[in-house]
Amino acid sequence: MVDFSFTEEQKLIRNELRGWCEKNLPLEKIREMDSNGEIPQSLVKSMADMGLLIMTAPVEHGGTGADWVTACIVGEELGYADISIALPVLWLVESSWGYVVDKHCNEYVREKVIRKAIKGDAFIGIASTEAGGGSDVASFKSHAKKKGSKWILNGEKMYLSGTEEAKKWGGGYFVNVRTSPAPPESPHRGMTGFYLPIDTPGVEISKRFEDMGRMAISTGGFSMDNVSLPANHIIGEVDKGFYLTMEGFDCARILIGAVCLGAAKRALELGMDYIKERRAFGRPIGKFEGIQFELADDWARLAAQRSLVYRTAWMMDKRYEEKRFTPLEVAKMISACKLLTPHFAFDVFKHVMLWFGAYGYTKECPIEMGLRGIMSYCVGAEGTANIQRVVIARELLGKEYIAYK
Ligand SMILES: Cc1cc2nc3c(=O)[nH]c(=O)nc-3n(C[C@H](O)[C@H](O)[C@H](O)COP(=O)(O)OP(=O)(O)OC[C@H]3O[C@@H](n4cnc5c(N)ncnc54)[C@H](O)[C@@H]3O)c2cc1C
Repeated sequence: MVDFSFTEEQKLIRNELRGWCEKNLPLEKIREMDSNGEIPQSLVKSMADMGLLIMTAPVEHGGTGADWVTACIVGEELGYADISIALPVLWLVESSWGYVVDKHCNEYVREKVIRKAIKGDAFIGIASTEAGGGSDVASFKSHAKKKGSKWILNGEKMYLSGTEEAKKWGGGYFVNVRTSPAPPESPHRGMTGFYLPIDTPGVEISKRFEDMGRMAISTGGFSMDNVSLPANHIIGEVDKGFYLTMEGFDCARILIGAVCLGAAKRALELGMDYIKERRAFGRPIGKFEGIQFELADDWARLAAQRSLVYRTAWMMDKRYEEKRFTPLEVAKMISACKLLTPHFAFDVFKHVMLWFGAYGYTKECPIEMGLRGIMSYCVGAEGTANIQRVVIARELLGKEYIAYK
């Protein structure tokens, strides 16, 4: 029998979080954060008090042991509340990469960053992309060489979410660098993941970008100049970092799906309120087919993609708990979520902005924050649309059809 209902506990979490969002994240507050370019750490600590940070980590590591369906509920509510998606981005980056680091790290790293990040006292992010390109992970130039008991890291990582937050709050990044030459037939091999505290000597924030949207969370880059890390900073196994990076992308991408759909739902609701009130040619504009049909199409697409995202999160849970699906089966579905949801949400914000007319184009209207913020996920944060297509086609056609080999 198919049962699509949420558990009582999940409903409770959604209701509690919705109440918290109504109190702490009204649209005026989102506008203020967008204008100031900052998320107050007090908000993050308040989320920690509710057990929302890296919540899928086990209880004995400080998390709540939540499943991915519950994490998606949280993502959807946060996207609904903060349509600029800055706070949801901070939350989901930590939730996914913190989860992967926690799963594969030793107690030293867990104490140093995971337990602190769960309390809102530190930031943990992902440093994968380099200035030369982000999609082709195997081509990265940053590298680490073993010297005695230490590893010496050199290179530069770029377009990273949260560089200023890491500097201010403490914490660091899961950074993946080359540790062995790649065999030509498997260029992704030979990468290793490290936990890199941002205050390690030799690490320098080399860039802060002025982004188009999600202004309240920073995007920057850092250089690594002979950075010396003890071996206990290795996450997982030497030369196996690529697989952890893919695991982290999977976690982040499903949460992005939930955040994008939450934001799209809010945009549609704001739009519906407006088209019932705004009058043209003697009647509310919501009476015109040109607007009604667009609303109906968007609502139908929202309902369909919501089913996709929650079913995929359920598959993730079954993969982890019962090994019912293979990681690649789940990855294909996750890529479908990441392929569809950002572009869909962007379309919704565009449609609603047009319903709002000239007012929609001003900063007095909240809609433009969503349009700017969601675009970051269309451009490619946590993987571009084409890379999702590459993953899906690889699973449909077989590895011999991979375009880049
Ligand atoms: C706001 C924002 C925040 C980000 N935060 C982080 C972060 O915290 N950590 C981090 O590591 N990175 C982060 N990124 C970087 C992100 O992961 C990269 O943008 C992404 O991986 C794409 O890399 P690229 O931008 O270098 O584009 P490229 O890899 O240079 O790709 C350029 C274009 O070519 C297309 N393309 C590439 N290969 C193929 C192919 N085989 N087939 C078809 N098309 C292809 C891509 O789809 C894209 O359209 C962030 C990006 C943004 C915009």
